[in-house]
Amino acid sequence: MPLAAGITAQILAIGSEMLTPEKIDTNSLFLTQELNNLGIAVTGKEVVNDSLHQISEAVLECLVRCDLLLISGGLGPTEDDLTREAVAMALGRGMVFHDEILEGIRERFRKFGRPMTDRNRKQAFVIDGAQVLPNPNGTAPGQALEIDGKLLFLLPGPPRELMPMTMEHVTPRVSAHFPLRVLRTFTFRIAGLGESEVDERVAPIYTKFTNPETTILAAAGDITLQFRATADGEDEARAMLRAVADPIRTELGERIYSENGDSLEETVVRLLKAQGATLAVAESCTGGSLAARITDVPGASHVFVGGFLVYTDAQKMGLLGIAPERIRAHSAVSEEVALDLAANTMARTGANYALSVTGYAGPEGGTERDPAGTVYLGLASAAGVTAKRFHFTGDRARVRRLATQYALDLLRMAVLRGE
Ligand code: ATP
Ligand code: MG
Repeated sequence: MPLAAGITAQILAIGSEMLTPEKIDTNSLFLTQELNNLGIAVTGKEVVNDSLHQISEAVLECLVRCDLLLISGGLGPTEDDLTREAVAMALGRGMVFHDEILEGIRERFRKFGRPMTDRNRKQAFVIDGAQVLPNPNGTAPGQALEIDGKLLFLLPGPPRELMPMTMEHVTPRVSAHFPLRVLRTFTFRIAGLGESEVDERVAPIYTKFTNPETTILAAAGDITLQFRATADGEDEARAMLRAVADPIRTELGERIYSENGDSLEETVVRLLKAQGATLAVAESCTGGSLAARITDVPGASHVFVGGFLVYTDAQKMGLLGIAPERIRAHSAVSEEVALDLAANTMARTGANYALSVTGYAGPEGGTERDPAGTVYLGLASAAGVTAKRFHFTGDRARVRRLATQYALDLLRMAVLRGE
């Protein structure tokens, strides 16, 4: 077992209902959180049909590649509850009937004033060599097995039974069995670069490490790089994270907008606040979503003064005094109009910074010069007025999202540079 990469843990969620569009396996999320708290990362999970052979095969496959296997569901009394039998089959072990378990189940039924059916007998079978995990919240006890140094747990499906059983009986057994490790994560958020470009630049660095492990999450114009280190102690984990994060910080520089998970709008609001600066916006094709992103941030009122929603040419002229001849000569979607929108917004609001957005969100519209997806972003500040042309690909929602993303990033760079 490569200790540096940590313990390999897998989860099997048993139940055909979770292979339908109606029901999702949430137990594994809880189990993952519990394991992560112990410094154990989950390396794989699977949802398996209520089928003796499929469950048994999945258990065998998992046991080859992992040190810890958590199985949830299928411990009930009904025909389709097959987990006990399937695990016994996979391990080539028999099962023993435990009188005291059946007595406990009978007692539970008596307490609730309901008759116990013969079906519940099957819940009193325990796999040879397994320890019984009591279930005060249901009828099916859990089971714990140790096989060649590996741990395997059978847990009931209902979350209100599985959760307390895990905290009380699984977590302590796991932490006593495996050397305790800490799991620490570190995150970079990146704007203004595409996923493949980020990967091309940072892969030569992170591929040198298997621990920390690196994942890349990509949203429109917004990349998250997450590093997860497993180590014997806090300091060691931090040092391991620095070993991969420091050279990546040098490589990506100002493209990294946050190192604490903050969103781009949170970062921009924080930067403006630190400078005591204010912002106003003029939006056409984004229809107010730029202002919405900014005002989503608690405390935005310290920096955001408001703005103009100028969707039609008439509103651009009427509300912001854009000259009709500018629109006629260059069209409303142009660098010239983006410049005027930003400059006039700054002048009318007295804000320190003004952002403007004008473009074709698509799918229709656009011109030969500026097809759908073309967006001009303007920025006015004490340093002057600038505008930039972008061409975004994707559907209407993506173009609008990218427009707000790049606008926030333009502002971020200007505030950072004190422009
Ligand atoms: P029971 O004794 O209730 O039959 P069981 O151990 O046999 O328990 P299942 O029959 O597999 O468990 O599931 C019972 C219920 O528990 C399901 O209908 C579902 O609501 C919930 N459940 C099962 N597995 C999961 C899971 N992985 N995530 C979330 N909920 C689950
Ligand atoms: Mg069941």
